[in-house]
This record gives sequence, C-alpha cells and structure tokens, in this order.
Amino acid sequence: MDSWGGKGGTMMPATGPPPWEPAVQSSMRAAAIGTGGRLEIVERPEPQPGPGEVVVAVERCGICGSDLHLRASGLLPAGAVLGHEFGGPVVVAAPDGDGPAVGTLVSVLPARRCGTCEACTSGRSNLCPLQVTTSIGLGWRNGGYAERVVVPGSSCHPVPPHTTAAQAALAEPYAVALHAIARSRMAADTDPAVAVIGAGSVGLMCVAALVQAGVTRVAVAEPRTVRAAVARAMGAVTVDRAGDIARALGRPPDVVFEATGTAEAPGQAVETAAIGGRVVLVGVGAPGGEVPMPALLWVVKEVDVVPSIAYTDAEFARAVAAVGNGAADKIVESAQHRRLADAEQAFDDLRRPDGPVKVLLDPTR
Ligand SMILES: [Zn+2]
Ligand SMILES: [Zn+2]
Repeated sequence: MDSWGGKGGTMMPATGPPPWEPAVQSSMRAAAIGTGGRLEIVERPEPQPGPGEVVVAVERCGICGSDLHLRASGLLPAGAVLGHEFGGPVVVAAPDGDGPAVGTLVSVLPARRCGTCEACTSGRSNLCPLQVTTSIGLGWRNGGYAERVVVPGSSCHPVPPHTTAAQAALAEPYAVALHAIARSRMAADTDPAVAVIGAGSVGLMCVAALVQAGVTRVAVAEPRTVRAAVARAMGAVTVDRAGDIARALGRPPDVVFEATGTAEAPGQAVETAAIGGRVVLVGVGAPGGEVPMPALLWVVKEVDVVPSIAYTDAEFARAVAAVGNGAADKIVESAQHRRLADAEQAFDDLRRPDGPVKVLLDPTR
C-alpha cells in the first residue's frame, strides 16, 4: 500500500471487521535481540493494551543509527525489540477508551510524557523524566520491529490525509531536526550560512527542515557519496570534510549542526564555525565517550556549543504534519524497504560506506 489516504474516514461496516483490522490473532512476529546480539524472528504473544494504551499495527519502522549503536553496545537484554520510528493504524483501542479509535492512522512518539513536571510545563517535554522508563524500542519497552506494538494512546499522533506509511515512520527523525533547529536559535530571515556535519538520517532531516524553514545556504560535510547525493537533491552543497565547509559557503557558517556523534566532529564544528557562531550537537556520542575541543579557538571565537536531544510534543506534532505533506520526501524516496526477516542484513548494509541512507522495515510482508 502506498498511501493511507481516505482509509481513516472509512466507516466501520455493520458486520465483520473493518478492512484494516486483522483477524483475531494469538501471536505475532517480531525481530528481537537473540544469540550474540543478532536480530532473530520470534513469535510473541499478541500484545495486550493496558489502560490508556492502544495497539498499533506497524506498517513501516525506520532503522535508526542509534539502533546500530545500541545493539553494538551489548546493553540490550536478550529478547528486546528495537524500533522507535514507526507508524501504522490503531488496531486495538484502549480498554478505557483513552486514546485514538481503531482505524486511526498514526505516527507514534516513542515515549510517554507526564505533562505535569517542571520540564513538561515549561515547554521542554523532551526532558520529561518519565520518558526514560517509558521509551519504546530503546531497550525498555518493545518497539516497532514487530507486526504490532502497544503504545500509550497519548503518544499517537494522527497523520494528515494521504500520508504514506514511510512518511509516518520518518516523522520521528524529522522531529529531532526541528528540535535541533530550535536549539540553534537561528533566524531564517537573516539569511544565515549553515553547515551540517554528517548526512545520516538525522543530518539529512536537518537539511530537509532547514530548506522548509527557508534557509538557502546549507553546506553538508559527508564523504559517503550516496548520502551526499540526497543532500544535494535537497539543495545543499556538499564537501567531503568539515574543513572545506567555509570555502563551499564562501564564509564560515553562523550555525553548525553536528550530526555524526563521533568524538572529533564537535571540535571540527567549532573550528569551522563563524566567530560568535553556534554549534548544535544533535549526534549522540558513544556511552562513556569524551569530546576533545580546540580550547583556545573555542573561547576566543566565543562559539556557543549546545546539545539537542529528541523533541517536544509540539515539535513532534509539527513534524508529523510536515513530513505527511512531503517535507522529507527526498529522504523518504531514497529509503529501502525490507522485510522483518532481513533486519540483520539491513544492519550490516547500513554500516557499509556505500550502504543505504535509510532502511524501513515492513512487518506487513
Ligand atoms: Zn532515532
Ligand atoms: Zn513530564
């Protein structure tokens, strides 16, 4: 199925299940962490929602760079199901009716936020402590590398009409980019020169969101040709190394988004940034890792270095609307679609220098 358009408005027939509802199932397939950390297909009992929870039938689930790092870390318990970028129809409503109705097509914010803590009430729900233990597909709760998954009803964001399953899945990394841009405090109407280091899916989402925001001067440092080509297709200029960014832009960038998560990139970002510029760290470093910085240059240029993690509820809602309306289509179109059973192969392929920009698992086949 390419588009979900029109399905959301389908009336439930008087008899028989609606077309999106599977026949009553007793089990489902998932790609779980198995022997030696390999992803293996397992049969799991059909997930049952608790109060305030619904079941979503996953139609596409993105494999995120952080999934590769998490798996490699060895920290995941055996049996864990990854996947925090996914969308699909609600197939079982919350037992207490608290959440979207069956048939609603949703993109899922993969955590629960409390709405009442200091972070939530000050507009920083991305920092809500509750989401640590409620995160979906990051080792705590099982995620979207599965046919079906239990999620909080409050985390379901209905998608715009005609949104595809791939677009719904990729709203999550686009939301990461929207938050990074908010952290940059850039004013698009001042015609800033902007750099992105790394054109993995988050770096590319930054490019897509910058273009949507009206930023016209974007340079991307990315040596891998497949990824660089997608950045260029969105209007960015590309260079192999961060050291070549200023030349490509004709001036040092006012804002640099560091989207590789490598140890050396933050220092390179400070080196390339304009005097008084700003560096946003949106790449997530390795656990226990440290970042060397050019101490003198950093201070003398007075470059602000700010971290950026996840997104607020409002940013996620904006991302669902934007991606459903085509804001990330160059990335969506470049994604490869694979079966759940091919998840292990997809992890291998994503690590290759000429590997795909993005893989979307399709649990429906
Ligand atoms: Zn991710
Ligand atoms: Zn909270």
